[in-house]
Amino acid sequence: MPILVASTNLGKIQEIQEILCEWDIITLNDIKNTIQVIENGKTFEENAKKKAKEIYEKTQIPCLADDSGICIKQYNGWPGVETARFLGENKATNSYAKERNQYILNKMKHLNKKERQVDNVTVIAYYDGKEFKIGRGTLSGYIANTARGNNGFGFDEIFELEDGRTLAELTKEEKNIISSRKKALENIKRQING
Ligand code: IMP
Repeated sequence: MPILVASTNLGKIQEIQEILCEWDIITLNDIKNTIQVIENGKTFEENAKKKAKEIYEKTQIPCLADDSGICIKQYNGWPGVETARFLGENKATNSYAKERNQYILNKMKHLNKKERQVDNVTVIAYYDGKEFKIGRGTLSGYIANTARGNNGFGFDEIFELEDGRTLAELTKEEKNIISSRKKALENIKRQING
């Protein structure tokens, strides 16, 4: 039985497929998805569970749903679950990522490194009609002073690691070793494999 990854985001799907390479994975793109889940939860976990459950109920395929974002300490965790949509629902897609990143860079331009601390959080929910399994991962870093790097997607170009590189300056392989998604997936893999 395959596992359905509840996403149409190619960047995210590619990372999940690389990390779960030994599993039979299909995505919403493979099943001609027209399922819309409204992500109105107050936490990453609520959103991930909502996506996994609603999509399982429509497809009857065990489902893995990931919700992620960045939580900036200086702003009490903002944008958090609003990471995709803080510029509005009409600017919530990947094609507006650079505009969202620029907004954050401008907002934080006077802050020093300590005030730029940020956590990238990923919560993954698995639902098979009976029970949920939840995997969590966090990667800590800093919001960079400028956007740098051409790899990756979303906020990768403004998420700076301790060594000064942004996530978008890593190779795919390097990102997949340290990412919050990798940690969350490893966590859930252990629970599903038993
Ligand atoms: P969602 O989890 O797909 O709802 O994504 C929330 C927001 O985080 C979107 O703007 C994504 O582009 C962004 N995002 C999710 N995962 C990553 C990542 O690994 N790197 C950079 N941006 C990401």
